[in-house]
Amino acid sequence: MSKRIYHFHEGQVALKPLLGGKGANLAEMTGLGLPIPPGFTITTAACLAYEEAGQILPLGLMEEVQQALFLLEQRKQLKLGDRHNPLLVSVRSGAVASMPGMMDTILNLGLNDETVEGLAILTQDERFAYDCYRRFLHMFSTVVLYIPTVLFEDMVHLMKQERGFVEDHDVTADGWKEVCQSFKQAILERTGDSFPQQVEQQLQMAIEAVFRSWHNPRAQVFRRTYGIPDAQGTAVNIQAMVFGNWGEDSGTGVLFTRNPSTGEKMIYGEYLANAQGEDVVAGVRTPLSISHLDAEMPYIYEQLVDTALKLEQHYKDMQDIEFTVEQGQLYLLQTREGKRTAQAAVKIAVDLVREGVISPEEAVERMEPMHMDQLLHRSIRHGEALTVLAQGLPASPGAASGQVVFDADTAVQWKSEGRSVLLVSTETTPDDIHGVIAAAGVLTSRGGMTSHAAVVARGMGKPCVCGCATLVIDAQSGTLRLGNVTVREGEALTIDGATGQVILGTVELQEPQVTAELAELLRMADSIRELQVYANADTPEDAAKAREFGAQGIGLCRTEHMFMSPERLPVVQAMILAESDVERAAALRRILPMQQADFEGIFAAMDGLPVTIRLLDPPLHEFLPSLYDLKDQLHQVEAGLSTGIERERLTHVLRKVESLHETNPMLGLRGCRLGLLFPDIYDMQIEAVFLAARASIHRGVAVLPDIMVPLVGHVNELSRLRKRIDECAERVLGVERLLCPYRVGTMIEVPRAALTAGEIAQHAEFFSFGTNDLTQMTFGYSRDDAEGKFLAQYLETGILPVNPFQVLDQDGVGQLIELAAARGKAMNANLKTGICGEHGGDSKSIAFCHAIGLDYVSCSPYRIPNARIAAAQAVLQHRKQHMQASLSQQAERMSKRKVEAI
Ligand code: PEP
Ligand code: MG
Repeated sequence: MSKRIYHFHEGQVALKPLLGGKGANLAEMTGLGLPIPPGFTITTAACLAYEEAGQILPLGLMEEVQQALFLLEQRKQLKLGDRHNPLLVSVRSGAVASMPGMMDTILNLGLNDETVEGLAILTQDERFAYDCYRRFLHMFSTVVLYIPTVLFEDMVHLMKQERGFVEDHDVTADGWKEVCQSFKQAILERTGDSFPQQVEQQLQMAIEAVFRSWHNPRAQVFRRTYGIPDAQGTAVNIQAMVFGNWGEDSGTGVLFTRNPSTGEKMIYGEYLANAQGEDVVAGVRTPLSISHLDAEMPYIYEQLVDTALKLEQHYKDMQDIEFTVEQGQLYLLQTREGKRTAQAAVKIAVDLVREGVISPEEAVERMEPMHMDQLLHRSIRHGEALTVLAQGLPASPGAASGQVVFDADTAVQWKSEGRSVLLVSTETTPDDIHGVIAAAGVLTSRGGMTSHAAVVARGMGKPCVCGCATLVIDAQSGTLRLGNVTVREGEALTIDGATGQVILGTVELQEPQVTAELAELLRMADSIRELQVYANADTPEDAAKAREFGAQGIGLCRTEHMFMSPERLPVVQAMILAESDVERAAALRRILPMQQADFEGIFAAMDGLPVTIRLLDPPLHEFLPSLYDLKDQLHQVEAGLSTGIERERLTHVLRKVESLHETNPMLGLRGCRLGLLFPDIYDMQIEAVFLAARASIHRGVAVLPDIMVPLVGHVNELSRLRKRIDECAERVLGVERLLCPYRVGTMIEVPRAALTAGEIAQHAEFFSFGTNDLTQMTFGYSRDDAEGKFLAQYLETGILPVNPFQVLDQDGVGQLIELAAARGKAMNANLKTGICGEHGGDSKSIAFCHAIGLDYVSCSPYRIPNARIAAAQAVLQHRKQHMQASLSQQAERMSKRKVEAI
């Protein structure tokens, strides 16, 4: 049977899948000789066995725990449950991936009515002993017995009121004794059983509760958000307690080796004197800056900083360290890679390269896709007049405006109605995770920079202001007060997570910029990656933005967006409603210069880089009012509310809309089918491209237009349209054709096009996989219907592992892409291939594109930094796999030789 329990001195970091992050790091730190209270870890495998058996502890596990405990008792010279020398332990969860606060922990286990007296005598401090006991009773009741925490908080509150205590540290031994009695009575009333005085029973119940907490709702939401597999389970760490609440020369805190908000190299942290760790993490008391520890106990501070920096060097990354000082002695309880904002992640990685701690490859490898997505935060537009109502702690950068909401469920509800919401709370707890996900930002009145709200918001890249002391929430009346201003739930506030300001109303925000560190990191990625990164951009402004973010071309310019502006739409509608060819030609002649100007703007912005222009794709009725609106308007006209001319016009439009109506527009007259049936529309667009190219060349701009035909399903569609494009180029450019090396290609969006890619490639210079449509057509889902009706349920029940419109379905859609690219290249060795659906900005999909040898990915401008990083990560991942494969081949060859030698 495999080993299920590891003492800290036996473990090592390589065993992380079994020991969890916390257990592995405690073992590693113990090995480094750091001051770690002794303990042991029950493996994640034991947790999985517990789950598999229907939540029954594996046979013999508790006996093994008893043996491990025996060793721990010998080392501490204390004994669990001993009335004279009681050992107290913490029972903590610890998954492989960091899931701060998502699963459960129990402190001070081992106390009962007898051992609490023993602890009082041993420590000569009755107040301290009963403070520990009430904490244990409270935690045990909520975590193991599932009694609501508020019941216990109310009892403490009541006792404090009756006895005239203000703060927890004012409470006397008698006060805590009274609370312990009320807690035990509440347990009896709520569960029908007394609080278990048997310490072995306490321990078993606690271990089981921690195992079960792997499946609690907040942990599940967290895993889904961060893509952590359900099948990992949690380890359980059992460790001798040290007491931060043992008088004024004791305390507890959290320290980061760099600023987790900005990445700046500095000691950053918080400290609470005479408190236990949970007080800091839960945000129950607002802690003081770590500099207070320096002032109060400089020798401890020095030792702490020295150790922290050693740990950073050892792990080669910024560390988040939990520590406790017990009567003037320092203990470390945990170290882990610190959660950080996206900005901090970039700065820390680049600084570590500059400091020679890690290589550029390691820096690039470390970037999380989620961070890259969040990197470019919005900020308040410079010069905006602001009504600043309050100042809190700048816990997570970025600015957000939203309607105030006081609870997580309402936040989710309002978000689903399309509202932007700001979650405002005294403090958040792990149970609020769904509300934090739904909110544009989080504001709390209590808790410090390491409180739950701050840590979670930073992890998600959401703006957060916490510890805003002047914020008073009255949830009953649905209002909050900031000074003398009252804001009702549903009214707007803005927070600036970079400065900590809380501002009245909605504020205009500005888009983010690329910092010097990000530019450096992206350059590192560029020197590694093989895929090119293009942008989906429809306007000169978007093109310029894309270029600023490092786009190497435009992979998709959707021309229909150019038809939608209020001044153009009437002309486009006139073209669609035209009764004769002459009428339509006149309307198209009016549109042509507008299109030409658009293309000239984009060519200028992309000077010297390829610009892929897609000919019109959507069905024509998308440019006309809906049937429903038209009927309604006609109804009003008939009721005598408008003129006869209006009635004639509306009837005409209605007839046209009816004639264009389709049962299934996604599969109807769109893409190249439209271009073949109404050739003059495509002719106008093609002419506009070449006229713009010629004018740009005359201005000294280097143009590389790629004309892209959408939705081809049969080779004849492309061959006919290609002929028209070449003829138009000849007509418009004449000899200047030589100065304008244009290409013609097609989107591959229909499964038939993928299957017949060999034929199609004979008429194309490039393929661009339109993975939005290709996903729709391969699955047979219309995206709007799927996302509106059944996709959420498919994802929840695990029928689909991920949304295939966000992450490319490699098994199905990916297979078609791979096959089409291979068949296309076999027929046309110079064929350029890439993707331009939404997947072009998604890291996993980008890795797939690299693996199958595409030439480029194209995505929206703001996703370009992520795409550049993801493309480099794909190379690094590939290299690693290659290396592993050749190492195992080598090992195989060696063992073969050995066998032969024998
Ligand atoms: C696609 O189908 O992937 C694509 C890019 O085209 P659109 O989203 O405009 O249909
Ligand atoms: Mg498409």
